[in-house]
Amino acid sequence: MTANDSPSENHPTDQPSDREFAVDVEDVLEDETTSSQGLFDDLLSGEPIFENKEVLRPSYTPDELPHRSEQINKMATILVAALRGETPSNILIYGKTGTGKTASAKFVSQELEGTSRKYDVPCEVEYINCEVTDTQYRVLAQLANKFIEQNEAHIERRLEDLADLREAVEEGSTAPEATPFTDLGELDRRVEELEAEGEEMEPVPMTGWPTDRVYQEFFDAVDYRERVVVIMLDEIDKLVEKSGDDTLYNLSRMNSELDNSRVSIIGISNDLKFTDFLDPRVKSSLGEEEIVFPPYDANQLRDILQHRADIAFESAALTDDVIPLCAAFAAQEHGDARRALDLLRTAGELAERSQAERVDESHVRQAQDKIELDRVVEVVRTLPTQSKLVLFSIILLEKNGVQNVNTGEVFNIYKRLCEEIDADVLTQRRVTDLISELDMLGIVNAIVVSKGRYGRTKEISLSVPTEETEAVLLADSRLGDIEEIQPFVQARFDN
Ligand code: ADP
Ligand code: MG
Repeated sequence: MTANDSPSENHPTDQPSDREFAVDVEDVLEDETTSSQGLFDDLLSGEPIFENKEVLRPSYTPDELPHRSEQINKMATILVAALRGETPSNILIYGKTGTGKTASAKFVSQELEGTSRKYDVPCEVEYINCEVTDTQYRVLAQLANKFIEQNEAHIERRLEDLADLREAVEEGSTAPEATPFTDLGELDRRVEELEAEGEEMEPVPMTGWPTDRVYQEFFDAVDYRERVVVIMLDEIDKLVEKSGDDTLYNLSRMNSELDNSRVSIIGISNDLKFTDFLDPRVKSSLGEEEIVFPPYDANQLRDILQHRADIAFESAALTDDVIPLCAAFAAQEHGDARRALDLLRTAGELAERSQAERVDESHVRQAQDKIELDRVVEVVRTLPTQSKLVLFSIILLEKNGVQNVNTGEVFNIYKRLCEEIDADVLTQRRVTDLISELDMLGIVNAIVVSKGRYGRTKEISLSVPTEETEAVLLADSRLGDIEEIQPFVQARFDN
């Protein structure tokens, strides 16, 4: 961090911008005592494209969120109750990925905490990402520990205040009657009490305790003093999918048992139908208020990108068609702002790498291909083995020039592959399901064709680049063992 850097909201001061970096290195290169062979000279000679690339990363929280004021205002209208010491309704936020749910919720919680400090009303927001923290134990333990930490800090502050007070009374600058205590003895007893309470608080280990005990610890930590706490559970659908709805059940009925504090829950879900899997009581409690985040259209994405680009890029680093094209591509991708920002950043990086002076349309198209390929690689890499075998069968058929691959052909090759690597052989019906799943993931394209009185079959083709996909599959240690592939393709002609 450079100490003389004036902190500005849009330039995180802990990250030197690319430009400052470039200037520093140039100084060094000009220094006669350095003997470089010019490895970096070429790379530095181009005009810098980025002024502050961090602004395009997902971790950056923008201080303005265009086209989300309706959702943000609705959240604020509900949560303002917390500042009046009342319990806000629980909120359920829905929307596809990249529609600004996390960014908006974090923005609102920062505002809420800021205002609560300003007016000195006890209100806290705790954020949990349930994709990372995905079991009831871990959610409760993490919350318990956050509240324990806060309570300890609170006790610390109280003890300091009491020490100051004691000193003032002893010096005679404060009259004993002006304190909440009858005498110093009572003050000392309060100090001892607080110290004992502080010592009792121990952090919950991340595994090992019975869940009841973790819950109790969490409950006590929340109820330690009067306040409203807002618990924000992001990616809540992942938690329910992985661990069921017990956590939500427990959290949503806490208020009737708390003496001092009140809890309100904000659940954020990418899956619009996830409440179908909830216990009806949880569903009605959690969904007291619902806020929908619709996908952005291309015009809205343009605004969002323009806003960020102004800070992220050197002026005139983008040709006029770059932002509209990024917006158009991302609008097709269900209006995903994350995708739009990724495209813009990647296009900039590609331009930088090719030492272009400006980012233009071609860089955006390359970026689109690169991101799409990265996505495919990731999806294929994480497929279950059975799906990989099915996909590999399709690839083998296509590579051997088989047109309009059908389910039966895939199944024959698949069976041989399973035998070769000692995997269980699924039924043809299950394989058909796996093909449908691959279709939904966008890896293959399967259309149903009628064969007249012979019934119906599927015609399957790959929707992803063959070579790259095959390479990803063969990187799997089980599939990598398949050495002689050709004989399997012959199997197509069997039966
Ligand atoms: P979600 O949680 O819905 O998947 P995020 O809130 O993480 O989406 O948003 C994805 C990315 O797009 C983040 O980098 C976020 O800062 C940005 N973003 C989303 N909506 C807006 C907006 N209205 N204005 C500016 N940036 C936005
Ligand atoms: Mg999110």
